[in-house]
Amino acid sequence: MTGRLVIVGASLAGLRAAQAARRAGHSGPLTLVGGEEHLPYDRPPLSKDYLVAGDDGPEDPTYRTEDQLRDELELDLRLGTWATGLDAARKVVELDEGALEYDALVIATGAAPRTLPGASELAGVHTLRTLDDAVAIRAALDAGARTVVVGAGFIGSEVASSARKRGLPVTVLEALPVPLVRAVGEEMGRACAELHRAHGTELRCGVKVTGLVGSSSSGGTVTGVALDDGSVLPADLVVVGTGVTPCTGWLAGSGLRLHERDGGIICDQTLATGLPGVYAAGDVAHFPHPLFDGLLMRLEHWTNASEQGMLAARNALDPAEAKPSASVPYFWSDWYDSRIQFVGIPAADEIRVVSEELGEDKFLALYRRGDRLTGCISIDRPAQIMKYRRMIMKSATWPEALEFAGVT
Ligand SMILES: Cc1cc2nc3c(=O)[nH]c(=O)nc-3n(C[C@H](O)[C@H](O)[C@H](O)COP(=O)(O)OP(=O)(O)OC[C@H]3O[C@@H](n4cnc5c(N)ncnc54)[C@H](O)[C@@H]3O)c2cc1C
Repeated sequence: MTGRLVIVGASLAGLRAAQAARRAGHSGPLTLVGGEEHLPYDRPPLSKDYLVAGDDGPEDPTYRTEDQLRDELELDLRLGTWATGLDAARKVVELDEGALEYDALVIATGAAPRTLPGASELAGVHTLRTLDDAVAIRAALDAGARTVVVGAGFIGSEVASSARKRGLPVTVLEALPVPLVRAVGEEMGRACAELHRAHGTELRCGVKVTGLVGSSSSGGTVTGVALDDGSVLPADLVVVGTGVTPCTGWLAGSGLRLHERDGGIICDQTLATGLPGVYAAGDVAHFPHPLFDGLLMRLEHWTNASEQGMLAARNALDPAEAKPSASVPYFWSDWYDSRIQFVGIPAADEIRVVSEELGEDKFLALYRRGDRLTGCISIDRPAQIMKYRRMIMKSATWPEALEFAGVT
């Protein structure tokens, strides 16, 4: 296709889409539209090294300079520009600065964090999605903030771990009795939670937050978090990590099929949305995974956004040769000095710990669905987990996986 390729969302999936389009030989106009003023940057460091880095300050997470993007990709880069609508019949993306025509469109608008009522009125309350969020949280940690994290998911847990590395007192509040149940299952959620306790972070599960407390005498700054037992936990910094919602508000009325629970874009295996020339990729996209019986999933993983960005662009440019999005899901998360890694999907009939060291800091566990190996989690077992990823790719059976693990 030599027509106009437009990509909305200038982060990981969007950037990879642009790079893949040029690599595939696309010579037509290529436009990347991003609402943030920043050049595309890497998000994973924002909850990790960025918050911990010492006197020299954190590393710049930007992927490519503006010159590199314009010169290498011949990119029409529209930063600080929001897409406000999609007219699929006329093949036009409406922007806050005017209309943009396309022949093929990749939507990579990702997801935005949910927050607590009243959060925007109080200084010191943050979510963590953007570089600007990370700058603000880092400044609060520099000032020695007593930190309360609401939500013991991956981002909240990484923030807690970064604050502890700086020697600050941290409490993590989790509404569920066990954290991360949806992401890794109950037993493994409990095992991950042990990492908090072992590093001096106070983890309180089964606790409901009823509100944020602020002092008008301190200029509308947060002073604590109110809990359902009537107590108030003192805080100078509150980081809300209670999940994200796909950024699809701008697509209302476009005719795109949106997921009824979270509003993400429903695609087919090739990431096509069903509207002519329109594809989606990354955190915003639901797709039926061919390796898991067509189970519809939306992943919030770096590797998925990178791979799907590339795939969506290639498929949009050459729909006749479109390939499915079929790689085994993978994410990692760094807590304290440990790396948690997960491959596959967490929904399981059985989870079997296959290393002896559970209770110490390292372990590996396998997930079974029916008679197949469908997932694997590890703490500090990077080489092993990738072997299981390959086994899942090859649809290994459960007995094969157990034999490989040396378990009978
Ligand atoms: C702090 C943090 C740490 C993470 N750590 C890990 C990790 O350790 N391991 C891992 O696997 N994953 C991690 N992730 C997840 C990973 O970064 C995401 O999966 C990835 O960024 C998704 O990329 P994306 O391009 O799909 O969406 P996003 O990165 O969300 O980018 C979407 C972009 O689109 C823009 N946008 C939205 N709406 C519009 C609009 N209407 N018009 C124009 N632009 C718009 C947004 O402003 C944003 O810049 C982390 C995420 C965060 C936030």
